[in-house]
Amino acid sequence: MNILLLGSGGREHALAWKMAQSEHCENLLIAPGNPGTAELGTNLPFSVTDFEAIKNCCLDKNIGLLVVGPEEPLVKGLVDFLKKEASLSHLLIIGPSQEAAQLEGSKAYAKAFMQRHGIPTAAYQEFTADNFELGKQYIQQHSLPIVLKADGLAAGKGVIIAQTHQEALREFEQMIQQSKFGEASKKVVIEQFLDGIELSVFALTDGKNYVLLPEAKDYKRIGEGDTGLNTGGMGAISPVPFADDAFMQKVIQKVVEPTIAGLAKDNLDYKGFVFFGLIKVAGEPYVIEYNCRMGDPETEVVMPRLKSDLVPLLIAAAQQKLEGATVETDERFAATIVAVSGGYPNDYLTGFEICGLEEEVEDTIIFHAGTKAEGDNIVTKGGRVICATGLGDTLKEAIKKSKQGMRQIQFSGMYYRRDIGYEFK
Ligand code: ATP
Repeated sequence: MNILLLGSGGREHALAWKMAQSEHCENLLIAPGNPGTAELGTNLPFSVTDFEAIKNCCLDKNIGLLVVGPEEPLVKGLVDFLKKEASLSHLLIIGPSQEAAQLEGSKAYAKAFMQRHGIPTAAYQEFTADNFELGKQYIQQHSLPIVLKADGLAAGKGVIIAQTHQEALREFEQMIQQSKFGEASKKVVIEQFLDGIELSVFALTDGKNYVLLPEAKDYKRIGEGDTGLNTGGMGAISPVPFADDAFMQKVIQKVVEPTIAGLAKDNLDYKGFVFFGLIKVAGEPYVIEYNCRMGDPETEVVMPRLKSDLVPLLIAAAQQKLEGATVETDERFAATIVAVSGGYPNDYLTGFEICGLEEEVEDTIIFHAGTKAEGDNIVTKGGRVICATGLGDTLKEAIKKSKQGMRQIQFSGMYYRRDIGYEFK
């Protein structure tokens, strides 16, 4: 089968790495891809939101399976757009409809879904300019800290955890009255603060049935010891030591199954990955957020731990034939470390040559993220540049392998956290 994968990050390199190993993958095309994916298939020069180009590519290249990496095209309605095309009726797609992608695209939509289907989540209320005064009263009576969330996508910046009522009121005003996050903050979700430890759980669903993929934990802050600004993710580990069998059973019963049943009950067209952003509070799972695609950098530890062939699972999900499917997992630990450009997540420079990519370290995989080819060189192109995933029988060993892989690589201004997985050592 010819497969088209959309995206250009470390997540897509990891997905491409896994799919390229499948005997069911004849031709792998990636748009726009990166120099890492170019080694596994053919990169095509169009963007993930160029719906016309995606449609033409599916027709011209006889694509049988389309896998959508990032959320933006999903939230903008790519799946609905392609499904309207009669000549593409054979095309299998991994990614939910625009309506179902609202689970990620609108926090108010996701909260209402969770409430409707009895899925544990923080208590909340939603507010707009129409009930602004009520919102202020709600804040004043709320216990501290208070979590404020811009309803729409805000590149990870739309969530504020206010420590005082004053701060919450100021943020609330900025979001609603001064459009701090543009359209995204026209509506604001105000919710209870949950004090616990976070993890990410992934399912692949056909809208009725699902398989669970290995869970992971990511490290969002730029600084060691989880300090400093939030980033797209500085590293990840899998499995998660505190996600023992008893806890994962609760996750399945209280979160995953009611979510999949909710999709079916609400008649949502959802064939693809569901990312459950969870928090464990006093032994119980609560949903912080849904994402309608895999996580980055979590995919860089999930894919290396997946023993099963991914492509037949994706085909079965897209064909609504996942019933009875199983997933085999590598028992080993995986850890990934992300190297970023100096200055990230604030301003940074790009275009620096990346050296050492050709060096190979046993049990270590290098995934490209923000890189590009320039002549014979590979240079930096984004904030998050390169990921090194290590595998080992223990978490310590996996982290050691990941660090060994990272030590081979150099570029001007390179920075990475040396403490990924620190709390479990
Ligand atoms: P954006 O939409 O801007 O991309 P996001 O999707 O990353 O943001 P969330 O995942 O909902 O937003 O929240 C980001 C982070 O804020 C979470 O990973 C968590 O650490 C913290 N957080 C969110 N909600 C709560 C809560 N109710 N209690 C405690 N922490 C929370």
